[in-house]
Amino acid sequence: MKDIQKFIAGFRNFRKEYFSREDAPFEILLKGQNPTTMVIACSDSRTDPSFIMQCEPGDIFVVRNVANIVPPYESDEGFHGVSSAIEYAVKVLKVEHLIVLGHSLCGGIDALMHDDKVRHTEFLYKWLSVMRPVREEVVDHFGEVNKRSCTACEMAGILRSVRNLMTFPWIKERVGEGKLSLHGWYFEMESGQLLSYMRETETFEPLSMCCPVLKREQEDESE
Ligand SMILES: [Zn+2]
Repeated sequence: MKDIQKFIAGFRNFRKEYFSREDAPFEILLKGQNPTTMVIACSDSRTDPSFIMQCEPGDIFVVRNVANIVPPYESDEGFHGVSSAIEYAVKVLKVEHLIVLGHSLCGGIDALMHDDKVRHTEFLYKWLSVMRPVREEVVDHFGEVNKRSCTACEMAGILRSVRNLMTFPWIKERVGEGKLSLHGWYFEMESGQLLSYMRETETFEPLSMCCPVLKREQEDESE
């Protein structure tokens, strides 16, 4: 009950500090949303993309699920929640960026790596099976399941999801036309760093090092 009271108090504060602000940012949003970016993030309570990137309402269109997975394109009769959110972002909102945001200490990836623990589950085991080929590759490479292989699987899972995005014909088309960019980001909770996959070096590097503007700002701060 304490948490519920905290959420209600938080909402009251949002109304006072944001909703009723004199410049009325929400009034503009009532006309419609126009985010340029969609984020596919994990459901983990510590990795809310709006919070860690300090976004305002209207900034990002978000779908979250266990282990930030994008399943490959499938045109069957199933209920494709993630794919329909991506379709809405790309076809209707016409976002320019799709970010797959993974993170360290991911419980979803841990469950994938120790899948005996979740074999009994009704939905989770099957959901995580999208990433089973990634798990096999990582375990083959490291020879065992340990902290390092779990981290590698978190990162490799992001790249697999980015690759899966390209199996959607209308995403592939827009990327080819230069209208859409795909990004693989990794929030390293222990260091508080946000890393981005760099195609040139095939590694995840801190975003402040990759982005010239951020790099300059960081250098200014340290002077
Ligand atoms: Zn997670």
